Amino acid sequence: MPRLLILHTGGTIGMLPSPRGYVPGTDFAERLARQLAGQALPDYRLVELAPLIDSADLAPADWNRIVAALAERWHDYAGVVILHGTDTLAHTASALSFMLGALDKPVVLTGAQIPLGEPRSDAPTNLATALQVAADPSGPPEVCIAFHDRLLRGNRARKVRSQGLDAFDSPDAPWLGEAGIDLALHVPRALPPGTPDFTPLTFADGAVAMLPVHPGLSPALLDAVLAAPALRGLVLATYGVGNPPGLAGALVERLGRARQAGVVVVNVTQCHQGRVHQGAYASGAALNDAGVVAGQDLTPEAAITKLQVLIARGLAGEALASAMATPRCGEMTAA
Ligand code: ASP
Repeated sequence: MPRLLILHTGGTIGMLPSPRGYVPGTDFAERLARQLAGQALPDYRLVELAPLIDSADLAPADWNRIVAALAERWHDYAGVVILHGTDTLAHTASALSFMLGALDKPVVLTGAQIPLGEPRSDAPTNLATALQVAADPSGPPEVCIAFHDRLLRGNRARKVRSQGLDAFDSPDAPWLGEAGIDLALHVPRALPPGTPDFTPLTFADGAVAMLPVHPGLSPALLDAVLAAPALRGLVLATYGVGNPPGLAGALVERLGRARQAGVVVVNVTQCHQGRVHQGAYASGAALNDAGVVAGQDLTPEAAITKLQVLIARGLAGEALASAMATPRCGEMTAA
């Protein structure tokens, strides 16, 4: 039995050119075997999800497909590598961390900016690092991302460069490891191990939305978003330490009403790094009055997926708001 499971979901790493740009490609198993042949890498078995997707097309239901594939094979392997498109890789890493909870082996997501087999592809290095982390007895028993020279906590990571090969970082959390000449794993930073939960979830369409504030944001747009009938959670991406535009009182009034109608609003910063301090300014303090949850240093990806998973688990109202304010699996620094 091979030591590692590689689960291929799609993405640039396995794509081939077409007249309309890159599309998921065939023969990935052969191409992968050719690429890895002769390298002293851990033994693996490849499983491909059908259909392979461009991760820009990913929907929450795809997280269930991944979780089901893991559940079926979990006890047969020492670790798992998931190959995924980079566009929503941080969303999937976050979602899986909330769905699975504590783990007893590493689940390492990776992908590539340049397809496997193309000149200067980053796929071989990313793959080799991911396989080594997944096979290492000290590999973190959590959902993580191996990309370029770094190993990141999945629910802290963001795609920070659209073209650079160092495409992912975790601006508010230290790396879990670093790939230089040696692979250095920062073992004490890993989460405590546990038994994963493979329960499939029912994700309701449109239950969660994200609204970035900007100069010129109109109360009418806010009304349109908050009027969506299925809406149960809203991620509000505000300026700096969590400051929204007041809109002459219209924002807080609308958000307070939404909260009373059962919509939980979570405030995250639009800044690349740093945390929300809701109340440092009067503009932000108004959000406290409206019952908005301060998202601390949650990434937008973690905020959205945490809401999606908790709502799919049946949380609502106060219970949902309080769960959003409480760290679950390393995704935020407590207030
Ligand atoms: N659109 C691709 C995807 O996310 C981009 C990539 O993989 O880098 O599947």
